[in-house]
Amino acid sequence: MSKIILEREKCIGCGSCQTLCPKYFEISEDGKALIKNSTRDPKTGNDELEINKTECGQEAADSCPVQCIHIK
Ligand code: SF4
Repeated sequence: MSKIILEREKCIGCGSCQTLCPKYFEISEDGKALIKNSTRDPKTGNDELEINKTECGQEAADSCPVQCIHIK
């Protein structure tokens, strides 16, 4: 099992994650990315999703210009 974590506070809404990995990411109405079907931490605002396979998530993380996508 892996986990994708998105620090939404840092996101600049460039859209790269959505382009490279629409399976997990989309740009939400507030102009920042979100992780589809994720849990949002009310304190940090981070989205977190447990995944079996990283798939395109790693590419999205590598492409993020502000490095706010983390795979653990
Ligand atoms: S690649 Fe990073 S900065 Fe760009 S929309 Fe996705 S999370 Fe936000």
